[in-house]
Amino acid sequence: MHPTIPQAPTAAEAPRSLHATCEEARRGQCGYCCAMPGEPCAFSGTGPDGYHVARFAWAEASGLISATDFDVALETAAADPFTIATVIYDQGGTGMLTYDQIPPERRTIGDATGRLDEHNGALGVALAQWLARDDTKAEPDARRAANTAMDEIDAMLRELHELRSRLVGEIRASDDLSAVRVDALLERSRRERAR
Ligand SMILES: [Zn+2]
Repeated sequence: MHPTIPQAPTAAEAPRSLHATCEEARRGQCGYCCAMPGEPCAFSGTGPDGYHVARFAWAEASGLISATDFDVALETAAADPFTIATVIYDQGGTGMLTYDQIPPERRTIGDATGRLDEHNGALGVALAQWLARDDTKAEPDARRAANTAMDEIDAMLRELHELRSRLVGEIRASDDLSAVRVDALLERSRRERAR
């Protein structure tokens, strides 16, 4: 009987970020303002690039983005109702938080690599002693070093198993939150279109 290793959820079904959707939309020429592939329809120089709804419609028709991606992008449009001339801004970027914005309890997952480094350092020293043993005579120090190496390996395995299961849990929770967010967006979009 093998221990159950939890599987990490896949990202395949998750909808694209607004940034990724904009990146696909910019691959085509704009049917509204004729901006060339790769060029935004609107840009301020410092602010986010903007793309006409016409380009998202083209990207969806071309199979580059899904209907859900299109809906999620439309939800960010300020204009209601939107037209093909409505500009959608790429507010996405990487969406990374600054260190100060990260909740303290979330930061601790990064500490695991520091602990692994320490164990790995001790393992390196122990292995260096072990591999230099002279098997023609008793080497109690080398034998002790072998035990130390085993302990460090066990500690690293424990550390890695804990890290992996924490990561799987965090991925699940994060995917659930984004599914809830997308459902809410789609529901609002449906209601507004029905008006
Ligand atoms: Zn355009």
